[in-house]
Amino acid sequence: MSYLKKYQWELVPENLPIVKRSCPKCNEKTNYINSEKFRINANKNSIDIWLIYKCEKCKSTWNMTIFERIKPCNLSKHEYDKFLSNDTELAREYAFNSSIYSRNKAEVILEHVNYGLIQRKLEAYHIKENELVIELVCKYPIELRVDKLLSDILGISRTKIKGMHKKGVVFIEDDKSSLNMKIRDGMEIHVLKSVDHIEVLEAIVCMSL
Ligand SMILES: [Zn+2]
Repeated sequence: MSYLKKYQWELVPENLPIVKRSCPKCNEKTNYINSEKFRINANKNSIDIWLIYKCEKCKSTWNMTIFERIKPCNLSKHEYDKFLSNDTELAREYAFNSSIYSRNKAEVILEHVNYGLIQRKLEAYHIKENELVIELVCKYPIELRVDKLLSDILGISRTKIKGMHKKGVVFIEDDKSSLNMKIRDGMEIHVLKSVDHIEVLEAIVCMSL
């Protein structure tokens, strides 16, 4: 067993998903933008909380239900305070929560979300000496395919990435059949060290320095 470097790429969303819905004022389907503000309606017996979206064109608001008539005892003071102060991180969590969208029967669009990349170099035990491993970390759902990610980050055409996959130089550990799949948290991309693809390896190694 050899001691090998492992790389970690964390994808962090730089903007929030939009919701497509029919705007009653514009009389057409428009983009609704996440305002990152919550609306709260609270009395002694129940609390309602919404996340406010605004039509891109006319600024009409649509409230996406987060909680409906829940008992105050079922919501911690800590979380309630976060809603009150429009906590950005909490707004982001709900903005990427797909079950909230389905409960609200809302059409969410993830394709316009851009992702920033945080790179880390990890120390890891690995059996194969001639291999590099890139672990993907994404805490939020993402509409991006592996070959596109590699092509964007390494600055290599998708055709070349596909060619490398065909030769077995680049592959996903749990599904070697394709690179044309959506990125998932914890996914591991393996790259075999080979002289033919030295520029790819250098790009991976140099980026993480
Ligand atoms: Zn509108």
